[in-house]
Amino acid sequence: MQAQDVFTGSFTQQEPIPEEGIAAAVEVMRHGRLHRYNEAPGEVSQTALLEQEFAAQMGATYALAVASGGYALATALRALKVQPGESVLTNAFTLAPVPGAIASVGAVPVFVGVTEGLVIDLEDLAEKIAQTGARVLMLSHMRGHLCDMDALMALCDGAGVQVIEDCAHTMGARWAGVLSGRHGVFGCYSCQTYKHVNSGEGGLLISDDADLMARATMLSGSYMLYGRHPAGPPESAYEALRYDTPNISGRMDNLRAAILRPQLARLETQCAAWNERYRAVEAGLRDTPGLTLIARPQAESYVASSIQFLLLDWPNPAIEAFLAACAARGVDLKWFGAAEPKAFTSRYDSWRYAPSAPMPKSDRILRAIIDMRLPLTFTLDDCALIARIIREEAMRGSVVLSG
Ligand SMILES: *Cc1c(COP(=O)(O)O)cnc(C)c1O
Repeated sequence: MQAQDVFTGSFTQQEPIPEEGIAAAVEVMRHGRLHRYNEAPGEVSQTALLEQEFAAQMGATYALAVASGGYALATALRALKVQPGESVLTNAFTLAPVPGAIASVGAVPVFVGVTEGLVIDLEDLAEKIAQTGARVLMLSHMRGHLCDMDALMALCDGAGVQVIEDCAHTMGARWAGVLSGRHGVFGCYSCQTYKHVNSGEGGLLISDDADLMARATMLSGSYMLYGRHPAGPPESAYEALRYDTPNISGRMDNLRAAILRPQLARLETQCAAWNERYRAVEAGLRDTPGLTLIARPQAESYVASSIQFLLLDWPNPAIEAFLAACAARGVDLKWFGAAEPKAFTSRYDSWRYAPSAPMPKSDRILRAIIDMRLPLTFTLDDCALIARIIREEAMRGSVVLSG
């Protein structure tokens, strides 16, 4: 047998924290004021600075830093006063913290189907809005795929549905020139290690609505110190809600903020580096029999920190054999359609706390989704090698299928 290429790199190795971030973190540890409200006279905390910089970068009026992306999503739901038992629409193709945030406020996730472009199915969305009368959509830009945001906002605005954007995979991406997170009433971001900026854990929220952001700030655990949020609404916005808003403690700390600020400053460069790697893998996989690449719309300026493709209508054992063959050659692929949830992947029907009925059109696509991370520690040569391995194994698989 001919010697085969094998990839020996790691799919989970991040880049180091930038040196300025390490230096800023060391300074915070030296002075000891890690809590965001522990400011020396005249000092503005790292967390408050991060919020100011992020608001400016996103073009948002207000920003709030919190403990995690999932916490940001739940805070947005609470700020919108979503009630226990209320239906909240969300994507069938997403990750567990999204329906989890909905369940955390006692609300009921209602899953909306997915298209071959891996975005929310707007036809199904319209139907489910009509069926449920839901007033909130938690829109997950899963794996960085943006739907037609103009069409989605027209549909939701017309039906009186408020949109919370889950931008865990789209920090820096745009639809028709407008940044992801700037269409809905809230944009929510994750700073967890596998996202576009890395503080281990962490989250960010943006909004232009003073009342909602005042509520979110108090919910996040501001006590009566909300005046220490230079990127927050004016103190007058808190008058009507300061006695009635519970403190559901989930703040960010200055250590995380210190390492995030220099990462945000270089976000554009990082986004370009991800896209270079994406295009290298995409080019290597083009026209592979049996393998469907995801078409990217003209209006979408994506940030591809991962890549997906479909093995449409392959029987499960063939998909399993393909994944095993790739894994044996060092290529770590995730299968979102697997019957059993595994590591980060799961299907909507595995979140059994939420009711769901089968969606045949979407299920066909979900069953076919193969996913791969593109850490920036990969070189372009690594990407070409990985694509070659996937292509060879997919061709082997589809020969077996058609033979
Ligand atoms: C990571 C992630 C979240 C949650 O972020 P955490 O910071 O891990 O809580 C939400 N949605 C999606 C799509 C994610 O990938």
